[in-house]
Amino acid sequence: MTRPMNIVILTGSGISAESGIPTFRTSGATTFWDYIDSGGVRRSHPVEEVCTPEAFARDPALVQHFYDQRRAALAAAEPNAAHHALARLDSAWAGELLIVTQNVDDLHERAGATRLLHMHGALRSAWCLACDGRSAWDGPLEQGPSCPACGAAGALRPDIVWFGEIPYGMERIDRALERADLFVSIGTSGAVYPAAGFVRTARYHGAATLELNLEPSGGSIFFDETRLGPAGQLVPEWVDALLG
Ligand code: NAD
Repeated sequence: MTRPMNIVILTGSGISAESGIPTFRTSGATTFWDYIDSGGVRRSHPVEEVCTPEAFARDPALVQHFYDQRRAALAAAEPNAAHHALARLDSAWAGELLIVTQNVDDLHERAGATRLLHMHGALRSAWCLACDGRSAWDGPLEQGPSCPACGAAGALRPDIVWFGEIPYGMERIDRALERADLFVSIGTSGAVYPAAGFVRTARYHGAATLELNLEPSGGSIFFDETRLGPAGQLVPEWVDALLG
């Protein structure tokens, strides 16, 4: 090949597991995120009770509280070797490259990645339902603070794409998948669509496909190669080999 490969990398919660951020699923079990309720009791919730627009309409305080805790926990987490390796690849790679993350944490950007798309939104962003603006947001939303852009009180929601909502950046992702020579999936269970279908789109357009995951995922059969192990080990090894 006379030009450098075009690469699309899809990451899921498994890449952040070694940074101490819980995944939804490991070893076939769906472990629901738990949270501390206002009385200080630890509780767990099916994702449908905290990660859907219906849940937010039904009980906004519960959903805001859940995401306030996730946002606060993120402040204590640090990027791991896998995030750093991808940031290194991003800055060194001469070909087209796009890191599409399903994660709502900010560990890719804190490691230095720039060619990055948060298809499911971001914990450190608030979306105002009054003015439709997005604002960087580090604190809690449960008490209904005012929007920094328009001043409306109580109109901010987490800037998270919930189940049933349309992911961000799909046109850009589709264009990148059509042009990809290599598609790499890291730390994702292959259970959440449309991300779970990216491997088939990339294959259809002629890309080679590689999966790096702790265990075979729901979509493993669609990959040319699957390497099993922790992302903190597999991703730096893969990046080092690619950069020679
Ligand atoms: P998932 O929880 O469904 O699957 C995680 C996958 O990562 C599993 O296949 C598991 O075997 C693998 N894994 C676990 N530890 C790993 C490690 N150390 N190295 C490599 N792989 C490891 O996650 P998903 O596929 O990303 O989909 C769930 C949805 O949950 C996504 O939409 C995402 O937005 C959301 N989510 C995000 C975060 C986050 O932002 N960090 C955390 C949990 C869930």
